[in-house]
Amino acid sequence: MENVDIFDGHNDSILFMSDYSADGRDFLDRSERAHLDLPRAREGRMIGGLFAVSAHPENEPKDDLTITDKGYEVRYADALSPEHARLQIDGQVSAVKALIERAQGQIRLTTSVDDIRAAIDVSALAIVLHMEGAEAIDPSLSYLDTLYDHGLRSLGLVWSRPNAFGYGVPFAYPRSPDTGPGLTDAGKRLVKRCNALGIMIDVSHLNERGFWDVAALSTAPLVATHACAHTVCPSTRNLTDRQLDAIRDTDGVIGMNLAVNDIRADANLDEDTPLEVVVRHIEYLVNRVGIDRVALGSDFDGAVMPREIKDASGLQRLIDAMRRAGFNETDLRKFALDNWLRVFGLTWKDR
Ligand code: ZN
Repeated sequence: MENVDIFDGHNDSILFMSDYSADGRDFLDRSERAHLDLPRAREGRMIGGLFAVSAHPENEPKDDLTITDKGYEVRYADALSPEHARLQIDGQVSAVKALIERAQGQIRLTTSVDDIRAAIDVSALAIVLHMEGAEAIDPSLSYLDTLYDHGLRSLGLVWSRPNAFGYGVPFAYPRSPDTGPGLTDAGKRLVKRCNALGIMIDVSHLNERGFWDVAALSTAPLVATHACAHTVCPSTRNLTDRQLDAIRDTDGVIGMNLAVNDIRADANLDEDTPLEVVVRHIEYLVNRVGIDRVALGSDFDGAVMPREIKDASGLQRLIDAMRRAGFNETDLRKFALDNWLRVFGLTWKDR
């Protein structure tokens, strides 16, 4: 069967690159650890993706997971200081540029749909810079302009913690994503500034009131780069049917997250989650929002993957499973690449 080019809506790989972290992996060498590097992207025909920069506390709190009768909840993550966050983001942006320099044409930083297509034509991996959580951005938003100049074209307003702009969902199951207040005034200004610059706004990790604030304010299609359906798996990270309908009605996209605990109805962290379960979840999304609005947002290097996919090298096995379930080649190309390119084209100012 024919392989299809895949653009992936989310990974955390920058955090684990040797260009950023002393104990990181060389992205140019094939590893068996975790999920993504250039050789494995090529094996799975992943032609590009949204690569996230994100800031983290010096010491992540331990023992913050509580198993409940029916599921789990995670202690709400602490806020991060903007200065501390900015140092980390600067380091990660520099690391990506160093990697691209070392890769000698095999990887490109892309900021337009034409850039992505040109990268595909020469078999270079297309990196689109995304930031997950806006902590590093100052209230005047001037650092957003700096990041834009560095190539940032996608921004998640929050990760699963509060910040100056809004409130992320604490991880929990089963629970509604309606976990707290909406965007702050600074958050509303940030949405407008992203619209003006042509930076895509990602609602992944945002709580439900924040989502509706973005929906009311933003002039761009609504996008979740990595999330699943709350009706299938009622975790706080997943989107309710009403949220999915809002994405559909703005011609936006949901990137199907491959995190097994957000796919499975029981939310178990079980690598032995069959591809059929993944495909049934994709079918739920497609039935709700249409084949033009569902894409892939793997969360490689940030979540537990189904063993049958394993890592980026196994992505075509997901495509094959969708094909067996009745998706035709046009549908598969939409899911794998075309839907992302459409939404980028509707959102970005660069052509
Ligand atoms: Zn995430």
